[in-house]
Amino acid sequence: TWSYLQEKFKETLSKVSYDTWIHSANLVRITNNSVTIEVPSTLHKEYWKNNLSTRVVEYLYEFLGREISPLFVTAEEQAAHEEQEDTQTVQAFETQPVSSTLNSKYTFDTFVIGKGNQMAHAAALVVAEEPGTIYNPLFFYGGVGLGKTHLMHAIGHQYLQINPNAKIKYVSSENFANDFINSIQNRTQEKFRQQYRNVDLLLVDDIQFFADKEGTQEEFFHTFNALYDDRKQIVLTSDRLPNEIPKLQERLVSRFAWGLSVDITPPDLETRIAILRKKANAEGLEIPNDTLSYIAGQIDSNIRELEGALVRVQAYSAIQRNDITTSLAADALKSMVKNDSKQNVSIASIQQKVCKYYQISLADLKGKKRVRQIVLPRQIAMYLSRELTSTSLPKIGKEFGGKDHTTVIHAHEKIKKALNEENDSELRDQIEEIKKSL
Ligand code: ADP
Ligand code: MG
Repeated sequence: TWSYLQEKFKETLSKVSYDTWIHSANLVRITNNSVTIEVPSTLHKEYWKNNLSTRVVEYLYEFLGREISPLFVTAEEQAAHEEQEDTQTVQAFETQPVSSTLNSKYTFDTFVIGKGNQMAHAAALVVAEEPGTIYNPLFFYGGVGLGKTHLMHAIGHQYLQINPNAKIKYVSSENFANDFINSIQNRTQEKFRQQYRNVDLLLVDDIQFFADKEGTQEEFFHTFNALYDDRKQIVLTSDRLPNEIPKLQERLVSRFAWGLSVDITPPDLETRIAILRKKANAEGLEIPNDTLSYIAGQIDSNIRELEGALVRVQAYSAIQRNDITTSLAADALKSMVKNDSKQNVSIASIQQKVCKYYQISLADLKGKKRVRQIVLPRQIAMYLSRELTSTSLPKIGKEFGGKDHTTVIHAHEKIKKALNEENDSELRDQIEEIKKSL
């Protein structure tokens, strides 16, 4: 069985990937419905879980004709739990006692990897496994609700899993400042220093709030140096790059640049759907795929809001005693969907202006023709309908000759991507012109 899997992976992966992930792994046990694969490290384990596990299922199904669920264990875990049952083994690893300052929900297991956070996730893993050596300090920056705090806690959990006796300190920059000020008032500075310098891993969240706090910055500078000299790992987050934080001392800015800075950008549609699916599964919620994609299409920048939307839909369905469907979700989210100042423009007028601008007929705009001269205006009109009106996605689809809401989501994403990521200035000008005419 193992050589079959190896062969399949050899065919589909690059040589370097194969050598890194597959060559170092081993099949240790296979039962009627599960297979245990041993890997050298937790980094490998994460990688197998996130990137290779569906293929394992697929290939084993081809080979054995039945569905087998894979379990991944590190060599260490395997040695320690040789005697136990697979399922027990996995649970034992996943419920380690952790320091009370870490949120037990913010682990690598619950973190969904997508384009916007891939780098940050990889760096976080490296730091948890090899603290204090490669990326010190590790600095995450990006907008609110994109997973900076989550990743930071995940590093803490992972680190503790490897070193159960390690001392970890997680603190927001505000709490750091408060602790510092209190220590001056109460003449307990020695204790303060003990607390912050005698740790193996220091996690300081949202350091943009250090701006304007001279004394705290001074103290943090010394804390940083003490830990750094001791080769202790430091992880920092902020909503922007250090040099963009007003009144952050130059010497701090330059020290923060010694390590690695990684940004986290908003998740794309696929990632948002994956996040929702994961949360829904964790809550034991049954939500149809098209409803997940509908919700993901409505909330497009902030993962915390995405979670809020799910909670809302869940509550709505409980109150109404109805199953979760797309139309129930649309009702539940009505008030969350951005609809300020959107009342004035109608879809009909958008369609009319787009047709006029591109010189195509309304029938074509609403029709099914797939030629570019028509597809692009259609996507633009859908994009504008989404941006400028508060109409729900299914309803927009209906206004375009009864198309599915997923078509609207894709049109919207496509244009948004062209404008933002691809920076298509010609398209931007055209859209601006149409907007002006509205
Ligand atoms: P930030 O610190 O960047 O403002 P958080 O780490 O607090 O954001 O994340 C906000 C919420 O979104 C948290 O509940 C977190 O668990 C969740 N979240 C963020 N990114 C992800 C992700 N990639 N996968 C799963 N959940 C995520
Ligand atoms: Mg945060």
